[in-house]
Amino acid sequence: MKNTNKIIIVGSGVAGISAALKLVDNNYPGELITIIDKGKDPYTRKPEEVMTGFAGAGGFSDGKLTYHTAIGGQLSKYCGEDKAYELMDQAIEMWKRFHPDPSKIMYSNPQAEPDFIKPHFGLRLFPVYHIGTDYLHEIGKRWYDYLVDKGVKFSWETEVISINFNKNTLGYSNIPIKLGKVKSLTYDELIFAVGKSGIDFGKQLADDYKLPTEPKSVQIGVRFEAPQKYFQKLIDVSYDFKLYQKFDNISLRSFCTNNNAAYVAVEETYGDISYNGHAKKGEEFRNDMTNFGILMEIKGIENPFEWCRDVVKKCQMDLPVTKKSGLYYSPNLTRKPSLTSESNIVDSYQIAELSWFTDAFGEYADYILNFIDQMNEVFQFGDDWGMYIPEVKYLSPEPLVDYTNLALTEYPNVHFVGDALSARGITVSGAQGIYVAESLLN
Ligand SMILES: Cc1cc2nc3c(=O)[nH]c(=O)nc-3n(C[C@H](O)[C@H](O)[C@H](O)COP(=O)(O)OP(=O)(O)OC[C@H]3O[C@@H](n4cnc5c(N)ncnc54)[C@H](O)[C@@H]3O)c2cc1C
Repeated sequence: MKNTNKIIIVGSGVAGISAALKLVDNNYPGELITIIDKGKDPYTRKPEEVMTGFAGAGGFSDGKLTYHTAIGGQLSKYCGEDKAYELMDQAIEMWKRFHPDPSKIMYSNPQAEPDFIKPHFGLRLFPVYHIGTDYLHEIGKRWYDYLVDKGVKFSWETEVISINFNKNTLGYSNIPIKLGKVKSLTYDELIFAVGKSGIDFGKQLADDYKLPTEPKSVQIGVRFEAPQKYFQKLIDVSYDFKLYQKFDNISLRSFCTNNNAAYVAVEETYGDISYNGHAKKGEEFRNDMTNFGILMEIKGIENPFEWCRDVVKKCQMDLPVTKKSGLYYSPNLTRKPSLTSESNIVDSYQIAELSWFTDAFGEYADYILNFIDQMNEVFQFGDDWGMYIPEVKYLSPEPLVDYTNLALTEYPNVHFVGDALSARGITVSGAQGIYVAESLLN
């Protein structure tokens, strides 16, 4: 193989660094790979920079590596079930490889739905590896050092602001962006791996180039939080339990469960605030809380992406210090939003009544409240809970790609991967990066 193609990876998140690792592991010259990221390297990235920097949102997430083709976005759609599992194996192996002590990785693999959740809920059964935020940082440093050692070039605090698919060039600027200082780079192959923090850029490109897209459903809900003791019997069965309910056009599921040292995290997308969660491994962070998303997947909504953005906007409160926040509700008014792992209060505006939430979510609010009521029957937490509103998975229209290499159908040297395509989690994002790297190696 003649390795002369210049590869630019936009985004050093999970998908981007997995692609780079696969390439250099197969003797692709690191010097031909440039990774551009608007965040910082793993040594200087701060805890509050949740979405940007080396390893992306995955790097400061909870590090739950799910292992099932029905979880974390679409993979088998492109490559079939068998190949999807093989790619996920590779993706998980990368995280183990740079772990300072792989024996500390927790593994759970529930085999049967426990009787006590029936008839209220079903439970998705799938294996999950749990790394924890603090170990992710260490893994990030080792992974980064390895890529640098192999010659991969990184450009930090640099934002790509335009791409010309016809001329194979991109425009970038150091942060803060100065429009007079935009520089240009050419590429032979481009891996577009900007994750959720670059979702608006992806949408802008899709609009500018009128990229054909695949239709998407809506995924929106809240982040629920309660003391862990109520959920312990289920956590003993499955650490990252996924309770679900199904109705005609709507299905609900608990999503991304964090336990032991569980913190709610603020996310900002399109300038609006929503919530997510992560867990730390160190005992010093233990707060004995559990948090998870309660997400609805709603089919049949016209313009689902715009609808979702509108609901999120209706849940925003302008605050003097933080500019904006989402909402927090608990039936027990003495229960306040929790602390973050940095001991700040989770930015949120506490509402005493549910009307703000029900106005924003309309008829769909009842599905979430009913889900919580039914959990209460099973887990008996009374009014000892709160929810952060909203949590959202923006399923922006997915660009149509060639399933064999995730390249845009009209621009075969531009590959979309990770959350910028259809992934919703670490394992699948990594697997998509590896899949593209394999296609480039071949
Ligand atoms: C708080 C939190 C907890 C999570 N917990 C889990 C979990 O436990 N398990 C799980 O499977 N998933 C989890 N996720 C989701 C998971 O992190 C993402 O699915 C995954 O990181 C997506 O990988 P990616 O490479 O597509 O994007 P990202 O990891 O988001 O990386 C994208 C990178 O692109 C860079 N970027 C964006 N735009 C530009 C631009 N224009 N120019 C230059 N650089 C740019 C960003 O700085 C970022 O570093 C969590 C997410 C969050 C926010």
